Amino acid sequence: MALEMKSECERCGRELFPAGPAYICSYECTWCRECTAGFEFRCPNCGGELVARPARSPDIPEARPGGDLA
Ligand SMILES: [Zn+2]
Ligand SMILES: [Zn+2]
Repeated sequence: MALEMKSECERCGRELFPAGPAYICSYECTWCRECTAGFEFRCPNCGGELVARPARSPDIPEARPGGDLA
């Protein structure tokens, strides 16, 4: 299952780009860098550790049809 790439911070609504900096917990709560620093790298939703989200290559289309990968 692919990682869901949320497009905005759940706290402040700041836009988060697929190739830009963002932080997630194991439940994929997604936050911008500033909010994450304010949380001290602890997810306020679930209490889990927040880690840097891997950047997605801008070359890969965001809306690729699912299940069609050869
Ligand atoms: Zn934020
Ligand atoms: Zn969480």
